[in-house]
Amino acid sequence: MDFNIPEDIGGDAENFGLFLASHLKPHLSSWYKGGEVPAGFYRQMGAEGWLGIQWKDGGLAKTSSLREALINEGLAKLSPGVAISVLAHVNLGLIGLYLFGSDQLKQRYGRHVARGETLMCLGNTENTAGSDVAGISMKAEKAEGGWRLSGTKAYVTNGYFADLGVVTAVSDPEATRTRRLSMFLVELNSPNIKRTKLNKQVWIPSDLTRLQFSDVFVPDDHLLGERGRGLKQVLEVFTWSRLPISALTLGTAVGAFEMALGRARRREIFGKKIVEFQAKAFEFADFYARMEAARLMLLKACSVADAGGDFRQESSLAKYLAVQIAREITPWAADIFGAASVVFEHPIHKYPMDAWASSLGEGTQDVQKLVIFRELMKKYESGE
Ligand SMILES: Cc1cc2nc3c(=O)[nH]c(=O)nc-3n(C[C@H](O)[C@H](O)[C@H](O)COP(=O)(O)OP(=O)(O)OC[C@H]3O[C@@H](n4cnc5c(N)ncnc54)[C@H](O)[C@@H]3O)c2cc1C
Repeated sequence: MDFNIPEDIGGDAENFGLFLASHLKPHLSSWYKGGEVPAGFYRQMGAEGWLGIQWKDGGLAKTSSLREALINEGLAKLSPGVAISVLAHVNLGLIGLYLFGSDQLKQRYGRHVARGETLMCLGNTENTAGSDVAGISMKAEKAEGGWRLSGTKAYVTNGYFADLGVVTAVSDPEATRTRRLSMFLVELNSPNIKRTKLNKQVWIPSDLTRLQFSDVFVPDDHLLGERGRGLKQVLEVFTWSRLPISALTLGTAVGAFEMALGRARRREIFGKKIVEFQAKAFEFADFYARMEAARLMLLKACSVADAGGDFRQESSLAKYLAVQIAREITPWAADIFGAASVVFEHPIHKYPMDAWASSLGEGTQDVQKLVIFRELMKKYESGE
C-alpha cells in the first residue's frame, strides 16, 4: 500500500499553489466585498488545466479524483466560498453533462464549459425536498418536440449567473418513486426563468439563488441520460461530488488550523507564546491527528474511485469525517484569535460558517450515515 502522492500529482498541487498566489490571493478581499467570483477566474482555471473535467482530443475527460481533491483542498484552504463556486460548476453541473449527456450535447456545450467560458449549476433541491430527492415536485410535462418545466429550485449555487443548469423534474408522476424523475440540461437564459439571489452568510462570495421556472421549454435532445432515471442519475452525481466536497471541507479545516497555528506561534500572553501552553499544544496535536485520519479516508475514497471501484461508502465516509472535524476545528481556531475573530473582515471569521455550509451540501451528516449504513449492510449480507 503506497501512501505517497504520485510525483506528477504532487507537482501539480504545488503549481496550483503558485497559481492561487497570483490569481486568487491578491483579489480575495475585493471579491468578498463584491459578493461574486468574477467570470474570468473560471476561465483562468480552465485555461491552465485546473478544472477537474477538461476538453481533450475533441471530448470531455475527467482528471483523477486524487488530483482534483488536492486542488479543491488547496482552493478551500484560502477560500471555501470560491472553492464551492468552482465545485458547483464542475462537480454538480458539468459532471451531469459528462456522465449523462449525448455525444451531440457534449460537442455542442462541452468545450466551452470545460474551459470555464460557459458556467453551470445543479438545480435539484426544492423547498419541499432536499435530502429526500425523490420527493421533488418540479413538473416536466411532455410537449411537441420537448418538455415544459414548471416549479422552483430553492437553493442553487451559481444559479445567479450560470448559463446552463442540470435540472431534475418529475416527468412520470404515475411511476414508482425510483422512476418518476428525469434530468434535463436547461439553457438558463431561456424565457420564463426568474432568478432571485438569496442573502446568506456562508461560502462568501459564492451565490445562492432561487430559480423559478414557469412553463420553460426544453427540447427533447436536452434530456440527460434516460427518461425516468433522474433519481438514480442525480444520486450518482452526488456520489462523485462527495469526493471534491470532502476535500473542500478538509481544506476548510486545514485553512483554519494553519491560520490558528500561525497566530499561536506569534501571539504572546502572560509572557509566553500561545503554543507554549501545553493545554493549547495538546489541542493542536489532537486536531492534527483527526485531520490526518479524515485525509487518509479521503485518499482511500479517491484511490477506489480512480481504480474504477464502487466508492459509494468511501465517499460518504470521507464526507462524514471531513465535516465532523471541520465543524469542530473551525470555531476552536477562531477562538485562538480572541475578539479579532468576530470582525467580519478578519480572514478567520468565515471558516466556522463555511464548515457549517459544508455539512449541508451533497447531503447532510444524516444522509451520509444512511449511505454508510446501507453499504455496510450490503457488505454484511454478502458476507464480505
Ligand atoms: C450554501 C448551500 C448551497 C447549496 N447549493 C445547492 C445547489 O447548488 N444545488 C442544489 O440542488 N441544492 C443545493 N443546496 C441544498 C442542499 O443540498 C440541501 O440543503 C441539503 O441536501 C439538505 O436538504 P434540506 O435543506 O431540504 O434539508 P432536509 O432534507 O429537510 O433535512 C432537514 C434535517 O433532517 C435530517 N434528515 C433528513 N433525512 C433524514 C433521515 N432519513 N434520517 C434522519 N435525519 C434526516 C437532515 O440531516 C437535516 O438535519 C445548497 C444548500 C446550501 C446551504
